[in-house]
Amino acid sequence: MYCCNFLELSIADAGKKGIAVLALSTEYGRAFRLQFRACDMDDEDTLQNIPKDYDLPKLRLVVQTGLRYCPACGTNLQEIIKLHTPEFDALAVAHKRFVLG
Ligand SMILES: [Zn+2]
Repeated sequence: MYCCNFLELSIADAGKKGIAVLALSTEYGRAFRLQFRACDMDDEDTLQNIPKDYDLPKLRLVVQTGLRYCPACGTNLQEIIKLHTPEFDALAVAHKRFVLG
């Protein structure tokens, strides 16, 4: 279901610190998301325990945007979704806890 090595590795990095590609399925359709995390999702709880008076730098833990084409090879990702819909849907279920919004 992958157009190239970048997509396969980025999908495998869902929820980890750095760049990842996530599968998203909603009532509006299926799509990929490009996500950037400042820390692993499992470490977010640790950050919640930092004392309120501790002077932390302003940062965003997670940002995310839509992804129509593979950033590495240019493949239209909707074509991958159409060719591999059952596999994409299973991925979307697995990624649900990582996706914003
Ligand atoms: Zn690709």
